[in-house]
Amino acid sequence: MKPIDLSNALKINRPELGDLSGVGLYRLLRLVAWEDIMGPGASAISYHAGKKLGNKLDVKSLDDFLVLCEELKIGIIKIPKMTNTHIHVDIYECITCSGMDPVGRPICHFEGGLIAGALEVITGKSVKAKEVSCIGGLGDKTCGYDLDLK
Ligand SMILES: [Zn+2]
Repeated sequence: MKPIDLSNALKINRPELGDLSGVGLYRLLRLVAWEDIMGPGASAISYHAGKKLGNKLDVKSLDDFLVLCEELKIGIIKIPKMTNTHIHVDIYECITCSGMDPVGRPICHFEGGLIAGALEVITGKSVKAKEVSCIGGLGDKTCGYDLDLK
């Protein structure tokens, strides 16, 4: 079985509909279908899926990654704090959760994993992300991640 790589998955030929789709479809897959199949393990699996994907991204710099996030419309990403060992990333208008009624727990683990994975490629360090705020999960202003670099 031939694996589906990133560049192939992002080849889009939809002459009438183009490369844009509703956020709703993504959320139904990402939140409803995944949790339905994976249950409570969905958070950890989502994080690892995001991290593996982030590790495979062809990004050479933080700017490259931010451009990609903008192209994929993951959200509006700000980095208010960055040192050699710690980075804080805020996502505004998060694709996964912005606008939802809070569910009492952070839910954007995939995005956290993606950011951590991309930062591992960029920095060459081991990166771990913890979601410390979540718009649709907890009612916060941003989906915020504390990232530790080792
Ligand atoms: Zn979110």
